[in-house]
Amino acid sequence: MASLLTLEEAQALVLERARPLANEPVPIGTAARRVVAEDVRARVDLPPFASSAMDGFAVRSADLPGTLRIVGESAAGSPCERQLEPGCAVVISTGAVVPAGADAVVPVERVVREENTVEISESAAAGAHVRPRGGDVASGEVVMRTGAMLTPARLAAVAAAGVAMVECRRRPRVGILATGSELVAPGEPLRAGQIYETNGLMLDAALSAAGAEIETEPTAADDESVLREALERGLARDVLVTSGGVSVGEHDLVRAVERDLGVEEVFWRVSIKPGKPVSFGVRGDTLVFGLPGNPVSALVGCELFVKPALRALQGAAEPLPLFETGSLTIGLRRNEERDEFVRARVRTTAGEVLLDPIVGQESHMIVRSSAADALVHVPRGNGELAAGSAAHWLPLDG
Ligand code: AMP
Ligand code: MG
Repeated sequence: MASLLTLEEAQALVLERARPLANEPVPIGTAARRVVAEDVRARVDLPPFASSAMDGFAVRSADLPGTLRIVGESAAGSPCERQLEPGCAVVISTGAVVPAGADAVVPVERVVREENTVEISESAAAGAHVRPRGGDVASGEVVMRTGAMLTPARLAAVAAAGVAMVECRRRPRVGILATGSELVAPGEPLRAGQIYETNGLMLDAALSAAGAEIETEPTAADDESVLREALERGLARDVLVTSGGVSVGEHDLVRAVERDLGVEEVFWRVSIKPGKPVSFGVRGDTLVFGLPGNPVSALVGCELFVKPALRALQGAAEPLPLFETGSLTIGLRRNEERDEFVRARVRTTAGEVLLDPIVGQESHMIVRSSAADALVHVPRGNGELAAGSAAHWLPLDG
């Protein structure tokens, strides 16, 4: 057991081999969640013109306080073309061009408006409620760095900067293959010894959300020739993820068949719980993950190894899982040899993030696990993580 790879060593071996895929231009409308492959620069100043931050009146600050003559209107999309003369004001709306000559906006709530005049009893600083041209970003500046994933806000930033096509990494093509002679699809009647297939579905959902283009193979029985055919098809992708058949049982054939098909195994078994029998190999540029069949083990292996690899293939700056910090509500015994990932519910009380481990931590208990929002990392070692102590956790929302 002492010779097993640690989690960190195993993740490093995966990331060494997960080189970013080629770039492709992607229209902004379909670039959500894609990873930027070349710095994106603003095509325009942002805002492109001095604009009003409020609905109100554009004025010359030197005229205030005072009663000003209303000489026009600047609405969003319909600028007032004339120069603002002393003693005059222009009705202005949020986002409209501040006319030449004006240097401040007075909000409508602060004025008394008559038909053709506006009375303003306070003074205003030059620049008040004016968004200066280029105040967010100047034309030519970088709005998005290589490696950034286009979250909704980042997508908006790229669009605001006037960029219609973004160079992104190609999406990884991922083959998914669930193996096991006992597996049947939900909806079918269960015969003796059969269970419903869950992992293929779970991996499809998790990995699509992580940016992959999925091709799911039909579930394969624990039979050499069936496996050979299914694995060969899966190996044509950028990534192949299998579930089941990587343990030490007589019918665990996946690794042996992969070896026959030319997969070079990089590691097998990692000191984590659940998920120890996970395997990883390569054939050419294809990354090959063998997740254990127990659904919770497959889930943990997916979070710790497969999703980071997909992020790295897409050129993400930080591919490893980002853990958050919270407090344990009960003590957890540490495993001497293996890093454990305990399923927990997350709640917030008075600003503190509390982690309640769920009852039912065995790796086949997918229904109980499905109540959890978090994988809590219990590092290997002696003793326990006491109730109230800080722990790192990974959200289970993707
Ligand atoms: P294995 O890793 O093939 O030894 O499988 C370990 C356990 O996970 C066994 O109880 C299997 O029946 C179960 N299992 C394997 N694959 C799946 C799957 N795709 N969906 C649900 N359970 C599975
Ligand atoms: Mg099996």
